[in-house]
Amino acid sequence: MSSCNICGENIAKVIDLPQLPFTGEFRKPNEPIDKSCRDQAFYYCESCGHGQLENSARPEDVYKDTYLFRSAESKTSRSGCDFFINFLRLFFPKMSFNRIVEFGCNDCYALKKLKGAEVKLLGVDLIFADKKNYIDDSEIMIAGKSIENTDFSLYFNESPDFVFSRHTMEHILSPRTVIEKLFSMTSEDTIFAFEFPCLDILLKNGRFDQIFHQHVNYYSEASFLKLMEDAGAEVIGSCKNWTLWGALIVIVRKKGKKTGSRKYNALRSINDIAIKYALFQKQMEICGTFMNGSEALYGFGAAQMLPVLKYHLGESFSNLKWIFDDDPAKAGLKYKNLDLKICSPDKIDFSKKDILLTALDSSRMLMCRLASLNPRRIINPLNVM
Ligand SMILES: [Zn+2]
Repeated sequence: MSSCNICGENIAKVIDLPQLPFTGEFRKPNEPIDKSCRDQAFYYCESCGHGQLENSARPEDVYKDTYLFRSAESKTSRSGCDFFINFLRLFFPKMSFNRIVEFGCNDCYALKKLKGAEVKLLGVDLIFADKKNYIDDSEIMIAGKSIENTDFSLYFNESPDFVFSRHTMEHILSPRTVIEKLFSMTSEDTIFAFEFPCLDILLKNGRFDQIFHQHVNYYSEASFLKLMEDAGAEVIGSCKNWTLWGALIVIVRKKGKKTGSRKYNALRSINDIAIKYALFQKQMEICGTFMNGSEALYGFGAAQMLPVLKYHLGESFSNLKWIFDDDPAKAGLKYKNLDLKICSPDKIDFSKKDILLTALDSSRMLMCRLASLNPRRIINPLNVM
């Protein structure tokens, strides 16, 4: 593979990630450990500023994982969704849409917030393909298909007037094909909103632990604009959510007729990213020196991404005795690929314990929580949060 998923130009390998572990899976302690992993690499397009993986994830992993990641049960994902809805209401004070579609709708937490007397809502998600995860809500119609294979005429008598997706575009293998099809299926007046992790913020914060198998595409502001422009659309509003995966929200409308594609300057060079990655590796090494030698080191936050953090921290991670997590559903479980118990922090004396912050995408919330538990030391793998 050597061409960009967005602009088709040549791309170059920047980061090798041999034997990168899978994420987001737990097991009961009596189930056998499964350490299967897969070689991976991160590629970058200097022409449009897009990042992408060498190997795409197995679809079954994507949907399983996507479902877990976007569950409304997670406090972080709920607040991210509220942020998105608030931005929409700010941008469209009247929110006068009548036929709204969300693809990658998961448990429909966002759609439920858009209910109204005159509003028809359609949630599209492959997790409903076998109807197992069916939402019991008579006000929301559900299609268990991919967005490009959804026949809107089965649900509305006119084209949808608003289509949105949150944290779905990064999982889609062929974004150009899907966007072109979606635009061809909708009217000239349909408005779109997309939210996805922004590569510019990932690079700015050096969060290379956010590169993992399920995110196949890493859009920069420039590469997403290029994707929209080439499909005959324009971005009319945007906003960043720095605290949820460094997400970018864009509002898009069609331009009527296609114009020539504009050349966007990539914000980074391959060399620039390689230097940033070397700094990240150094940072993980420094974190490891604080972990080494602790006789009472515990993790806090059983994040789905923990196997990737372990991957980057290397040997030092084996000093961890347990992982604490406030979610009672996780207590007693283990990660599918790690031999590390997850325990409830209730009734635990933290005064002689060292804590490694392990749920890096909830670090702001966790810092307050950890301060209240008052452990001996708190080790934060990140400099920025
Ligand atoms: Zn490109």
